[in-house]
Amino acid sequence: AKQSGKNKFHFFDPHLERIALHRVATEQKLRNAIENNELVLHYQPKVNLATGEIVGLEALLRWQAADGKLIYPDQFIPVAESTGLIHAITRWVFNAALQKLHSWADTPMANLHLSINVSAQDFADPVFLPTVISALRATPLPHGKLEFELTESTLLDNHEQANKAISQLLLYGVEVAIDDFGTGYSSFNYLQEMRIHSLKIDRSFITELHNNPRKQAIVKSIISVGKNLGLQIVAEGVETKDEHQCLKQLDCHLGQGYLFSRPVDEASLLAFLKQRQG
Ligand code: C2E
Ligand code: CA
Ligand code: CA
Ligand code: CA
Repeated sequence: AKQSGKNKFHFFDPHLERIALHRVATEQKLRNAIENNELVLHYQPKVNLATGEIVGLEALLRWQAADGKLIYPDQFIPVAESTGLIHAITRWVFNAALQKLHSWADTPMANLHLSINVSAQDFADPVFLPTVISALRATPLPHGKLEFELTESTLLDNHEQANKAISQLLLYGVEVAIDDFGTGYSSFNYLQEMRIHSLKIDRSFITELHNNPRKQAIVKSIISVGKNLGLQIVAEGVETKDEHQCLKQLDCHLGQGYLFSRPVDEASLLAFLKQRQG
């Protein structure tokens, strides 16, 4: 009797039920959000560590809910990925990015590279690449202006297919970056095969870098291997001058982080760039 009682308890676990309800509610709201155009991109600058120049932007998704609240991706991307809504979201992000690149022609953003985040699921979706390519055929990019940030697992899950996709994207001016580098499988094998453009060193290696010789050893090695392979190296999550200084000494190409700017909306970005231009 005790056993079945236990099973019953498990079946009606109020905690699990709450999670399931929350997921369904979020999914429905997210569906509406896409339709009602409540998604918005914020932008975080990528800075050339040697010159201080802003050379690119990462687009980071936010959900501006009807009540005005800004919802961050950690709170809805996992739900989107588990329900398949991610495909519609990525399509929205890609289209928005394309549209921005074109509308920015005569603004301070004109010469900046733009990166978007692409989920593993999108990259595995057979419809994704053809859709991207037909959009790029219809409206060609200013060459090499768009970058897809992918995680290592995305590339490793089906590396032959990923490799083909990367080569095709390159034909249309889209470059590929490896996001959160160092936290995944970090097989150096694929680095030699794939035509990757940049490596983004995960923030966990950058935090307190100047106080941590072991982190320095790792970051130094990543920079060295990456550079020898002709890759651009980006440090994520640079928060302090000490970290910045340390990365400069290690000859890391680019940095991104709160030290330079938090992700901001388009109007703030424009103001920020105008002010820097003096
Ligand atoms: P990510 O791609 O690794 O993006 C970097 C995250 O670190 C961003 O969080 C950014 O705001 C934050 N960040 C930047 N500089 C600093 C810093 O100096 N210190 C700290 N503590 N954090 C910093 P955010 O915008 O909340 O995005 C979280 C994650 O959500 C992203 O991680 C990415 O995996 C995902 N994401 C964001 N936008 C999209 C999107 O359009 N599509 C997909 N599929 N995923 C997205
Ligand atoms: Ca990213
Ligand atoms: Ca990252
Ligand atoms: Ca991340």
